Amino acid sequence: MNQEAGDRVNLLGLPRAELEAFVASRFGAKPFRARQLMKWIYRRGAADFGEMTDLAKDFREQLVQAAKISVPRIVASQSSSDGTRKWMLAMDAVQGIETVYIPEPDRGTLCISSQVGCAMDCSFCATAQQGFNRNLSVAEIVGQVWLAQRELARPDPGGRRITNIVFMGMGEPLANYRNVVPAMRVFTDDLAYDLSRRRVTLSTSGLVPQIYKLAEECNVALAVSLHAPNDALRNELVPINRKHPIAELLAACWHYIDKQNGRSVTFEYVMLDRINDRPEHARELTRLLKGRPAKLNLIPFNAFPGTPYRRSSDAAILKFRDILNDAGVIATIRRTRGADLDAACGQLAGKVTDRTLVRLGVKLPHVAERPAVAR
Ligand code: SAH
Repeated sequence: MNQEAGDRVNLLGLPRAELEAFVASRFGAKPFRARQLMKWIYRRGAADFGEMTDLAKDFREQLVQAAKISVPRIVASQSSSDGTRKWMLAMDAVQGIETVYIPEPDRGTLCISSQVGCAMDCSFCATAQQGFNRNLSVAEIVGQVWLAQRELARPDPGGRRITNIVFMGMGEPLANYRNVVPAMRVFTDDLAYDLSRRRVTLSTSGLVPQIYKLAEECNVALAVSLHAPNDALRNELVPINRKHPIAELLAACWHYIDKQNGRSVTFEYVMLDRINDRPEHARELTRLLKGRPAKLNLIPFNAFPGTPYRRSSDAAILKFRDILNDAGVIATIRRTRGADLDAACGQLAGKVTDRTLVRLGVKLPHVAERPAVAR
């Protein structure tokens, strides 16, 4: 084994152009060598250059010296009675993040994390309570897919497949733009996970400048956590709204759809009992979204320890949906999956050491009110 393992470049997550540049600059190798490597790493799930039998032996030896394929370690894995699976992955000695696989008859969705914790501080989200520690690297983001694919093939190699990837785990993906965008390139590359752009969804709490930036670089599906039909309420639930209010956010969404020739933005709306679930809220939403390329996804609130919120009644959720649908705004209700594992939306807590006092991401006006010690 190479003693200087720390210096080796982790190839996991390098988009095709970077991998080609790496093999060219280090070994003078042709671009097709990078393409071969990608197929081994992602399609066949190889983590060992020794397995890559169609690469010349010399090249494999050079790779062992200069590179590695290093994936996060699984520290816990759970399966739900509904087939949902959740993995906790170690990010270092103390931190952990969570990845969830949700099987459905016609697809298999992997819900991945983009940060250790989250700095957005949404009042109804379990991840927010953990505070924020750091961004995940590209390898740590792509590694979640690599590991899930391997685990899903055990014991049955023809077992469940990942057909969709959603950034709806822990973290705010647009606050880790630099690493999330290259990871999405790997997800959609036909030599890697080969997912169509509509099968990769980025969900954001509403970082407006980054939505404009994304529109220039990527055309994955966009989901936006709206959760309230007016600024007064959204300021409370999704504090980034104080910086980027609803009108600004919606303008960015319509721009994204125009620019990317997309079909629609999915607006997520958590159903909180007597907070945002009244008929007048539905009517307000209708005024915002009618005639726009928008779909609403109503998410029954998933409770977690210490939350003051309660889930809206089924009757309130159905009525809310009907008001929207009758007014011509498409609204569907998201079925809760994996709740017995605390794997449902907003329940992912992982293991996070809060570093919010040194947070690098968005600074929110009320951050200073947080206790000064790590929790
Ligand atoms: N940071 C991204 C991804 C978050 S998770 C974002 O904000 O979009 C995906 C969705 O679950 C978001 O819409 C989020 O607001 C929602 N969510 C968070 N906590 C929830 C809870 N306790 N119950 C139901 N949905 C929740």
